[in-house]
Amino acid sequence: MSIRVENISKHFGRFQALQPLSLEIPDGQLTGLLGPSGSGKTTLLRIIAGLETPDTGKVYFHGQDVTDIHVRQRRVGFVFQHYALFRHMTVSQNIAFGLEVMPKPERPNKAEIRKRVGELLEMVQLGHLANRYPAQLSGGQKQRVALARALAMQPQVLLLDEPFGALDAKVRKELRRWLRSLHDELHFTSVFVTHDQEEALELSDQVVVMSAGRIEQVDTPQKLYSRPDSRFVFDFLGHTNVIRGEIDHGRLQQGEAWVNLPGIAADHTSGQLYLRPHEVRLQSHPCTQAHLPLSINAVSLIGAEVRLELQPQGWHSDEPWEIGISHSTYNAWQPMRGDTCYAVPEVGHLFSEQDKEPLTFHWQNDLPAPQRTTRMASAMA
Ligand code: ATP
Repeated sequence: MSIRVENISKHFGRFQALQPLSLEIPDGQLTGLLGPSGSGKTTLLRIIAGLETPDTGKVYFHGQDVTDIHVRQRRVGFVFQHYALFRHMTVSQNIAFGLEVMPKPERPNKAEIRKRVGELLEMVQLGHLANRYPAQLSGGQKQRVALARALAMQPQVLLLDEPFGALDAKVRKELRRWLRSLHDELHFTSVFVTHDQEEALELSDQVVVMSAGRIEQVDTPQKLYSRPDSRFVFDFLGHTNVIRGEIDHGRLQQGEAWVNLPGIAADHTSGQLYLRPHEVRLQSHPCTQAHLPLSINAVSLIGAEVRLELQPQGWHSDEPWEIGISHSTYNAWQPMRGDTCYAVPEVGHLFSEQDKEPLTFHWQNDLPAPQRTTRMASAMA
């Protein structure tokens, strides 16, 4: 079931929650609505569901205009952040509820309901907990019951609003993987709301990035990450290191810092170079392509790599820089707070006044990783 929204807008009083926007949600795909709090994700989801009426525009399910069709007739399944399970009903009864209250002519018979509930329990791997009550389940288990309950109605579309928002990080990750594999097996059309970039990029076939009631970009996670259209999208998808400056004679310059921009035609204009933490290396000496002196603010050893927080020296950045180095580089170099080092860009994305789209640069740098020979030598002595 494909979904199309066309020219949808929504006000609440005088506040415009959604600017006129259009979007295609392909059949059988998982689409993530991603954006900061208040960007309009839930409002858009509720309009698709039929829980909210748009001021303008139309909603189509599989080419059919459903704008004026009641939520009950849209055959939409919901999963909300707060499980909303019936407390006085067991897991099985919760899953069966929607089927049992269907109008008589459409309602499956008791044996059919039992069979469907059994299949759903197996699908969400909760067969062994069929007779428990919600209060006897963990958050992750409750959310799986909520999903089974939504799927029991064989919805054409499944809508999930921050489905894992109330769970801790580990359970969130497990449920994400599980939802993805369930989706790959069943191929229903799903739209889910999240403000978690990692969740959106990991789960979605297509991500819709929203900000201030507008759609910023719609793309696959890969394209979104490698080719963000705007600074907003770039900033929103994880930490970025930014240097602003003036571009002149193929070089971006600010204070003591500069970066060569090979092949750039733009001159006499200002620009901002965005560098992701893993697209920059650190050295103890400047390289030929860039002069980006930094002093080490903090060293964080937890995780797959060592994260350094760095403060520009002789130039300005609104936020400190963050660069990751491998644990082996860390062991050889042993960087400490207050040490000076130099950033060596490998890939950078330039947003300039002149160009609408960012330009991507790749630099060739083959200088070795930093070594702290004196400390190593004294440690060995
Ligand atoms: P969050 O991630 O915090 O849930 P969101 O991106 O889902 O945010 P929405 O819930 O769609 O955002 O809200 C968009 C804007 O519309 C917000 O500023 C919100 O305060 C406002 N809004 C939403 N629903 C209503 C309402 N019923 N009445 C008035 N304002 C509303």
